[in-house]
Amino acid sequence: MTKSFEDLGISEEVVKNLEAQGITEPTTVQRISYPRVKKGYDVLVESETGSGKTLAFSLPIIEQAKGNKTQALVLTPVRELAKQVEEEISKAAGDSVNTAVIYGGVSYGPQIQDAKKANIVVGTPGRILDLLKKNKLDVSELEYFVLDEADRMLDMGFQDELEQIMRYVPENRQNLLFGATIPGSLEKMCKKYDISPKILRVKKEEHTRNLSEKYVEAKNHEKISTLYTLLKKRDRELSIVFCKTKNNTRWLSDKLRKNGIDAEALNGDMSQKQREKLVDRFEKGEVKVLVATDVAARGLDIDDVTHVFNFDVPDTADTYTHRIGRAGRQGREGEAITILEKQDHNTFRRLKRKLDIPRMKEDLELLDAQV
Ligand code: ADP
Ligand code: MG
Repeated sequence: MTKSFEDLGISEEVVKNLEAQGITEPTTVQRISYPRVKKGYDVLVESETGSGKTLAFSLPIIEQAKGNKTQALVLTPVRELAKQVEEEISKAAGDSVNTAVIYGGVSYGPQIQDAKKANIVVGTPGRILDLLKKNKLDVSELEYFVLDEADRMLDMGFQDELEQIMRYVPENRQNLLFGATIPGSLEKMCKKYDISPKILRVKKEEHTRNLSEKYVEAKNHEKISTLYTLLKKRDRELSIVFCKTKNNTRWLSDKLRKNGIDAEALNGDMSQKQREKLVDRFEKGEVKVLVATDVAARGLDIDDVTHVFNFDVPDTADTYTHRIGRAGRQGREGEAITILEKQDHNTFRRLKRKLDIPRMKEDLELLDAQV
């Protein structure tokens, strides 16, 4: 018998709020981490993208939340993710818990007001540190310090900011560190700060995923036609096409639009507002194809993404895993296709060996795309 949310000891109100969203059974990572966190352990949790980590760290915090002091600080690598996490917490918690979301690129006033009465503050490291330095965020009673996508945060160079933030939070806090992988740098950081977390690793097979992965080879001048053909021939809902650079996202989305594909670029050159607006339109299905950089797409959690295309090959297995984690979430069918040109073979060979990605079987009859 697998445990239900009630069995875990989650309150009736929260169970009801979850049910209203169609969330009726805890995922493996939620089942495994909830009791440990509840007991007060520091945890370092590795569980793949899409496995339900947000609720895994949020539910125990929600159950403890009361009063109007900031009890939990949740840090995420990017703004979009901070917003998503805050929304997910609010939806699960209902009115009894106050939340605030804090990130850069927007004005301070409203965020500071929200933070004053928030039990749970979610934010990106830069702006959080900023508010701490300005004495606008009181974390003196903090009980939970959470790093979401801890691995990515270190990847993205946030270590220094995280360490500075850690100087503000009480020593006796509980640390909850979550990621799709546990890099050595994270374990090192724990040692440095005398944190000895319980390490919880959730095995991949235990999740419901329905993602078919493959690669297809294309000559350099046929890369666009190949992508175009795949986009045309697939029965898809939302798709994300990954590029290495911001320039490529612009260039490629232009090319796709010229060929009648409804594509938009998502990259770090856009303002926060523009990005939010675009992600919102994408979520509503008004734009079907996002052409994104890794950084811009990090943490996007959109259920209807059925296809991920790697137009530029990812450099590492980690990046690959994060990219394809955008598709086929929570049991939906998905397909992740990497388009390779000759020069990519060396890079890709390593990924292929490690991740066992097969070549696409079907014969792709290329449609003519305007390039
Ligand atoms: P991760 O952080 O591990 O990548 P998320 O926490 O973002 O995964 O969850 C992925 C998706 O699964 C979200 O849309 C979330 O609402 C949904 N989800 C989370 N827990 C459950 C559950 N127990 N049952 C069904 N769906 C869930
Ligand atoms: Mg997550």
